[in-house]
Amino acid sequence: MPELPEVQTIVNELSQTIIGRIIKSCEIKRDSVIDRSSTDFRRAIRNCKFTSISRKGKYLIFQFDKPLWMIVHLRMTGKFILVADHQENRYGRVIFKLDNGLQMIFHDVRCFGTIELSSDIDKHKKLFSLGCDPWDKALTPESLAIKLRHRKASVKSILLNQSIIAGLGNIYASEILFDAKIDPTRVVTKLTLSQLKQLIKSTKKILASALKNNGTTISDYRRVDDKQGTFQNFLKVYGKQGEPCQTCKTPIQKIKQNQRSTFFCKICQR
Ligand SMILES: [Zn+2]
Repeated sequence: MPELPEVQTIVNELSQTIIGRIIKSCEIKRDSVIDRSSTDFRRAIRNCKFTSISRKGKYLIFQFDKPLWMIVHLRMTGKFILVADHQENRYGRVIFKLDNGLQMIFHDVRCFGTIELSSDIDKHKKLFSLGCDPWDKALTPESLAIKLRHRKASVKSILLNQSIIAGLGNIYASEILFDAKIDPTRVVTKLTLSQLKQLIKSTKKILASALKNNGTTISDYRRVDDKQGTFQNFLKVYGKQGEPCQTCKTPIQKIKQNQRSTFFCKICQR
């Protein structure tokens, strides 16, 4: 599933091409992707001009030249493809026809992705419930300690909880905990302030590096136009079970936490 670096890469790449473009028409191939009837959706979005694209957590937020926002979650297999007019695409679920002849296709093989419209972004419940962005100044070891003080969960599941820090998923959670030298099974209330400080530092470091590499392509994630990210070449623990730890040579372990795989080094991470 695309995580923060993948979503941000898509935001950056779409911004270069579609800001200032006007949606001339829109074709809905799969109604379950959108949040209203296809007639209402098409009517609401027709002749809207893209003015900006941003990200919150794993959501893409498209802003138009009137009080209207389009909020997209890619889930498992959602992606955007920009193509010249008149191209058919089997998994194109929503097709935005732009005023320069390009089509922006929301392509989603498994159809778990969502596209919602909102006339008041500040009242959008899912966005409102998201926690801090990793680069938010409000995210400090002290604020994190207060937020976590009554939690019984492991630090790994806390990293996946979008209401605490927004944007992380399974790949980066393992990589961040390896960088921070923290055991993923550790109950989060047992972390010291200096470990929380390191956790925040490692989060920013790993995400910045992934962003520089346009994300991680292991299975479904693609950049705009099907290009691949390259951070998979720099992973240290994710998917590396049985391979020697790059620091101490002990084989990397794979365990399940809440039905999700976690990869770590039992010697380096305490
Ligand atoms: Zn190790």
